[in-house]
Amino acid sequence: MNFVVVLQACTPGPITKARELNGFLHGPGFPAGNGTTVLFHDGVLSRPELLALAPTPAAILVQVTRHQPEQVLGLLEELAPRLDAELYLFPDDLAGRELAVRLACRLRGTSLAGVRSLRVDPDGFRCTRTAYSGQVEAAWRLKRRPCCLVVAKGGVEPLDLSPGARLELELDRRERPGAWIEALAATPAPPPAGLEQAGFLLAAGRGAGSRDRTARLAAIALELGADFGVSRPVAMNAWASMDRLVGVSGAMTRPALAIVAGASGSAAFLAGVERSRFLVAINTDHRAPMLRCADVGVVGDGLAILEELARLAGAAKPRGTVHD
Ligand SMILES: Cc1cc2nc3c(=O)[nH]c(=O)nc-3n(C[C@H](O)[C@H](O)[C@H](O)COP(=O)(O)OP(=O)(O)OC[C@H]3O[C@@H](n4cnc5c(N)ncnc54)[C@H](O)[C@@H]3O)c2cc1C
Repeated sequence: MNFVVVLQACTPGPITKARELNGFLHGPGFPAGNGTTVLFHDGVLSRPELLALAPTPAAILVQVTRHQPEQVLGLLEELAPRLDAELYLFPDDLAGRELAVRLACRLRGTSLAGVRSLRVDPDGFRCTRTAYSGQVEAAWRLKRRPCCLVVAKGGVEPLDLSPGARLELELDRRERPGAWIEALAATPAPPPAGLEQAGFLLAAGRGAGSRDRTARLAAIALELGADFGVSRPVAMNAWASMDRLVGVSGAMTRPALAIVAGASGSAAFLAGVERSRFLVAINTDHRAPMLRCADVGVVGDGLAILEELARLAGAAKPRGTVHD
């Protein structure tokens, strides 16, 4: 198996990163193979110093003016046929995380960040990394190659580098700086939804089913005079903004009335609504735990029932004042 380590001597801490990558390459389960380091530098370090940074037996040195992702990606794409690699490894820094994702996209492979271990299975690379803020260790099987992995910072024991790699190729790309970001604009984040102060909450779960149906539920909340909240899958699917999230990772509400539609009643979500004075749950599944936790449970489609509620509430509203 051919693999490539991509290092930048012109970003901070190259020695530490090289030692961490070296530790990863020598970790248990890492497959034997031919490794080449593609090392980008700005000419400050000498050739022997650069070669001593490479954690692989061979190295390609590329002199650039400064770190520019577009230029690095272009060169890696250009070198891809020659390197014929199934695996690209990047250090865990801003540049590495960006390059891994973008290179995988360009080479039609896969990428994963925060990788702590790797081994080869018959049907792909099996990587481990932590998930849910380090609460659990997850295993990922990556089938589409090349795999572009960001090795977790602090996830492996760093290992001293050997005397120096063999120089395979030396390129000078200083003459092609070329900026690719032409303009930057910042969009201020929306103000927090303030759900913790809600007196009346309407919360939608994954059962909302789609972005359009979630938008309709948000509109119904507005019509009813309720604040709109969502469970995590709804926020993660970008059907609603993250500041609407209810539960342990979001708003812990205590409204006088909460209507929850299409949420199963997971502990993480329930913690965010269980202090409601009166809780109504709507779910198509009569066995959903959410129904058991509610003061009133309704079995049926959340949107259809809330449409009807909004219609009844609209019909019950006092009509406009009549003037002589
Ligand atoms: C560390 C950690 C923190 C977390 N923090 C949060 C958090 O803060 N908030 C949070 O919400 N989750 C959080 N989660 C995720 C949580 O564990 C659940 O995965 C999540 O709450 C499930 O959301 P849900 O109930 O909307 O989806 P699901 O569990 O998929 O439930 C969907 C429900 O909708 C019902 N349904 C389907 N169609 C309809 C319909 N048309 N009408 C009505 N009902 C329908 C189904 O019967 C089902 O019961 C966290 C998880 C972890 C590990």
